[in-house]
Amino acid sequence: MAIKEVRVYSTPLAAKHLYNMSSSAVTTPYSTIVEIIDSSGHRGYGEACLASPQYQPAHNDGVRNSLTILAPAIIGHDPTQLSVLNAIMNSALDGHSEGKAALDIACWDLSGKIFNRSVVDLLGGALQHNIITYHVVGIGTPEYAATEATRLQNEGITRIQLKAGGRPIQEDIASIRAVAEVIQPGTDLAIDTNRGWTTAEAIQVSSACRDITLSLEQPCATESELSSVKQQSHHPIVVDENSTDIGAIARMIANGLADGFGLKITRLGGLTNMRAVRDLCMQTRTPMSADDAWGGDIIAAAGVAMGATLQPQLSRGAWLAHPYHQTHYDEHNGPRIENGYVTLPQGGPGLGLVIEEGRFGEPLTIYK
Ligand SMILES: [Mg+2]
Repeated sequence: MAIKEVRVYSTPLAAKHLYNMSSSAVTTPYSTIVEIIDSSGHRGYGEACLASPQYQPAHNDGVRNSLTILAPAIIGHDPTQLSVLNAIMNSALDGHSEGKAALDIACWDLSGKIFNRSVVDLLGGALQHNIITYHVVGIGTPEYAATEATRLQNEGITRIQLKAGGRPIQEDIASIRAVAEVIQPGTDLAIDTNRGWTTAEAIQVSSACRDITLSLEQPCATESELSSVKQQSHHPIVVDENSTDIGAIARMIANGLADGFGLKITRLGGLTNMRAVRDLCMQTRTPMSADDAWGGDIIAAAGVAMGATLQPQLSRGAWLAHPYHQTHYDEHNGPRIENGYVTLPQGGPGLGLVIEEGRFGEPLTIYK
């Protein structure tokens, strides 16, 4: 059993719904798709798609460029030996976790097809079959935010993430208050600034909203700033952008900084690394989600698969970009949201998707 060929594709996933963050708005990210073919003809798919050039210290052209080194390095190796493959990728190229993640996810999908098991089974098995999801309300006016929050709750969404930051905090506070007024019992509210506030601003907003039940997601840019906010905040702190690797995550759990994590599969380098982080979070009773910042059915299926393996009480669920770009690679099995939950794709072993040959057009590059 050996990896015979790696094909790389690029496909646009244009935002059709407002998606404004503190640093940038999502326009038309080009997702990188990898298709790995083994010596017996099985195909596995992986994906990495960065939401905008400003959201993280990586970009989509960089993902594709990293594959010029990573893909040739894994040709000829056993696709089911995920630890070996990750060691090979780490020896070949420092950093570039997103390109590594695309290949790692494809090998999990491929392994599932080889063993005739789902990725969920290979990750240890499902502890929940309906995975809760949350919906993002982009930065806008208080009226827009409240209208969106109302609409989402009417659709069954019980977790709302309101974006904030990048503007005077009085405007953020007004939006938070407007949303809080329409929040129904049982709905969870998180305020995500994507690193957008200073420590002073975060503390001021928390103080001004101390009567509102909410959590603050990545209110500031650095771990030390988060630590400072944590000591003075009236609200729990959820860490997203600073959760770059298991060392940082372990440190923030040990320091008592993180009340939860919003984890991105591609930032961590794939499902293999995320499995280790999942085990750390579950054993330290730290809530986490299994997300990515953008992307299509493949990364969504990977997130939902990981999400299914979380202990329900510690699950912050999985997030899909589908409601914003409304694109499916697999119209039948692509993960979709119903009443605020996502179910596992049922299209067969691996990630449960059926990707038709030619779905992404001609490959940009074929490595063999
Ligand atoms: Mg976030």
